[in-house]
Amino acid sequence: MARAPLVDGHGRHIGDVRVSVTDRCNFRCQYCMPAEGLPWLERDDVLRFEEIERLTGLLAEMGVSAVRLTGGEPLVRREFPRLAAMLAAVAGLDDLSITTNGFLLERDAAALVEAGIGRFNVSIDSLQRDRFYEMTRRDALPQVLRGLAALAAFPQAHPIKVNAVAIRGFTEEETLPFARFAREHPYEVRFIEFMPLDADRSWDHAKVLTGDEIRAAVHAVYPLEAQPREPNATARVFRFADGQGRLGFINPVSEPFCADCDRIRLTADGKLRTCLFSLNETDLRAPLRDGATDDDLEQIIRDAVWRKELKHHVNEPGFIQPARSMSAIGG
Ligand code: SF4
Repeated sequence: MARAPLVDGHGRHIGDVRVSVTDRCNFRCQYCMPAEGLPWLERDDVLRFEEIERLTGLLAEMGVSAVRLTGGEPLVRREFPRLAAMLAAVAGLDDLSITTNGFLLERDAAALVEAGIGRFNVSIDSLQRDRFYEMTRRDALPQVLRGLAALAAFPQAHPIKVNAVAIRGFTEEETLPFARFAREHPYEVRFIEFMPLDADRSWDHAKVLTGDEIRAAVHAVYPLEAQPREPNATARVFRFADGQGRLGFINPVSEPFCADCDRIRLTADGKLRTCLFSLNETDLRAPLRDGATDDDLEQIIRDAVWRKELKHHVNEPGFIQPARSMSAIGG
C-alpha cells in the first residue's frame, strides 16, 4: 500500500535508510572501538529479521526505496543472507546494498549476490599488511583481499566500492597505493574523512586528513577530473584523466553534504536516528513489540523525521559527540 512520501521539516524527501543488523564486529578499528570491544547488545534486544522486514516494508511504502545493511559487521549476524533475501523481496525496495569489512566475503559473496544485494562497499584502510593490522587490530588483509576478489567474480556486484577512512598521520602513506589500486582493479576507492564517532573519543580536527588534501596529492601524480555530483550523494567522484578508474571523496567534516541529505538510520536495537550525529533517538522496537499497527508506526516515524536535523554541528563550538559510537550506529 502506497503512503505519502516521508519528508522532513526542511522539505527533504527521505529515500535511504541505513539498517544496522548487529552492533558486533570481528574487527577492532582504532577510529571506531577500543581493543577490548564494547558491551554487546543482548540477543533479545536486537531486532529480529521479521521486525526489520516489517519496518523496511513500511518505510518503502513511504518512498524509502534504498536500504543499506551495516553493523558493526553485518556478516557476523547468523543467517545474514536469509535476511538479505527477505529484504530483496520487499515491495518498493529497489536498492539493497551492504557495507562490510570484507573478512567473511570469501565465504558469503555468492550467497549475498544470490540473495539480491546489488551494491557492495568494502572497508579497507590500508593495503599494507602490517599497517592494516595496526589500524584494525586484526591480521586480516590477505583474507579481505581474497574476499574482494571472490566478490569481483560476480559481474552483477560491480561497481564495487572500497572505503578507506582517512586519518592524518596514517593515511598519507596509503594515498598513492590506493590510487594505484583503483587504477589497476575494478574497484572505486573512496576516502572517508575521520568523523567524531569513535568510542575512545579521541577524535579532533587535527586528525582529519581532508579529502581535498588527498585529492591534491593524487592529482599531482595521476591527474583527476571531477564528475558531476549525483543528487543526495555523499561522495565527490573523480575519474583519472587517462580513464584508468575512479576515486571518491566523502568529506563530512570539510565539505558537509547535509543540504540534500535523504538518509535516516535504524539501529540494531530498533532506534530510529534521523542523523548520523543525532543526540536523540526514537524507539521503534517497543511499539513494534507492543502490538502497534503500521499506521501507528508510520505516525511515530513521521513525527521523528519531521524533527530531522538540518545539518551536523561538527565544525561548531559546543559540538556534542553522540553517546553511541560508529559500531552501534552503522555506516
Ligand atoms: S551529518 Fe546528518 S544531516 Fe548531514 S549528511 Fe550526515 S546524516 Fe545527513
